[in-house]
Amino acid sequence: MEFDLVVIGAGSGGVAASRRAAAHGARVAIVEAGRVGGTCVLRGCVPKKLLMYAAEFDDTFAQARGYGWTIAGVPDFDMAVWQAAKSAETARLEGIYRRLLEGSGVTLFEGAARLDGPQRVRVGDETLAAPHIVLATGSSPIRDTVPGLEDCATSNELLDLDALPPHAAVIGSGYIAVEFASALARLGVQVLMYYRAELPLRGFDPMLRAAAAAELQAAGVELHPGVLPRRVRPLLDGFALELGDEHVLETDWVLNATGRRPNSTGLGLETVGLAPREDGAVAVDAALRTGAAGVYAIGDLTQMKNLTPVAIAQGRALADMLFGSAPREVDLSLVASAVFMQPPIASIGPAEDELVAAGRKARVFETEFRPMKQAFLGAVAPAGQRTRMKLLVDAASDRVLAAHMIGADAPEIVQSLAVALSAGATKAHFDRTLAVHPTAAEEFVLMREPVRMLP
Ligand code: NDP
Repeated sequence: MEFDLVVIGAGSGGVAASRRAAAHGARVAIVEAGRVGGTCVLRGCVPKKLLMYAAEFDDTFAQARGYGWTIAGVPDFDMAVWQAAKSAETARLEGIYRRLLEGSGVTLFEGAARLDGPQRVRVGDETLAAPHIVLATGSSPIRDTVPGLEDCATSNELLDLDALPPHAAVIGSGYIAVEFASALARLGVQVLMYYRAELPLRGFDPMLRAAAAAELQAAGVELHPGVLPRRVRPLLDGFALELGDEHVLETDWVLNATGRRPNSTGLGLETVGLAPREDGAVAVDAALRTGAAGVYAIGDLTQMKNLTPVAIAQGRALADMLFGSAPREVDLSLVASAVFMQPPIASIGPAEDELVAAGRKARVFETEFRPMKQAFLGAVAPAGQRTRMKLLVDAASDRVLAAHMIGADAPEIVQSLAVALSAGATKAHFDRTLAVHPTAAEEFVLMREPVRMLP
């Protein structure tokens, strides 16, 4: 079986690489061991956001009353109904992905793929040969961070539940821990979070980290910063968290949200002279080349920036480099991302403490307010839900280095700001931009005086 390109892994990155290569006229095979669509579509971003939409109704019901609606009875959430609809939706999306591959002329092989020496990939009894091979196998939840955690649920299992537990402990405080703690609390689960840092969301701007903690608490999540269980023990109907000093917490259910590890085992890397790094990642250079000729890696497998749009951009850039006429590299210096808690967080550019550590001279603009929709509700407003925004501006060039926001629609707003920042917008550009009124986004063009200077 001769191809120009074999892609291993039909997730967001692999599908993007294979379709772009086929569009350039290459003969392309893609191999997938599970369902087509990958983590983002089947057990990540998409179902997670659908669960977040379900959770948002908790606030909506409370707000609706303040706006004059009568809602009879106490609204109740049925996870089984959501689960059936989610499964139907992910099946629909998987069908779309399969049809897209077929329509692009990409040949799909279903089974576990293994490198079998240079330019060869084994799938079951078949051998696929190609001068170029792209590894796009993604990542999976780490299960061994704390002894006993291997028996607990990860985001994969959470998103497949038919019923929610009354009481749950979340271990970790990254994207997944925060998003699901926020959603579960709104869906009626009593949530406790245990994590080793002082504040959740390491790497985000300190304003956002503090606000995330405050909003989780406002949603009823009990935070335990600096506390990690030493061991988790299964009980007949739940788990015991050994927290030290003979303190044991019994809970119905535990979410292990302590990070993800690249899927590099069993890939046959050694057959082409490659070995994964200690963290499981396959190392690549700026052109996404591994140390083996003709073998490339993209997405979570490279552990560069584990975000779907990064994997997609890398897949497309690689296909353009291999088969197109205009080679290019993906610029990861300014990547926006969002945390879909309630209210959501979105961010582009460095955090303020990163600028401080780098000794960078910058002006800091900040604003905080109660959004109009909440203010109207007065005393019956759901707790928390304040909006906070920050711009970090380079003192010498006036260039806007970063925009950070927590508040309604933050991901939508920051996505648009990302265009301005990528284009090199200065604070003067922000200042002469007229506002769209009344919006929250307008505050980004109305911040006049810096609240402080760095350093
Ligand atoms: P993160 O890397 O975001 O967070 C991992 C969490 O686990 C942190 O709280 C970390 O603590 C903790 N942790 C790691 N190792 C240990 C340890 N040995 N002992 C105790 N705690 C530990 O991973 P997630 O699993 O939340 O998400 C994986 C990746 O998926 C993210 O990095 C992101 O790239 C992507 N993702 C993106 C989303 C989005 O864009 N909205 C949503 C979900 C996932 P500490 O902070 O102390 O290091």
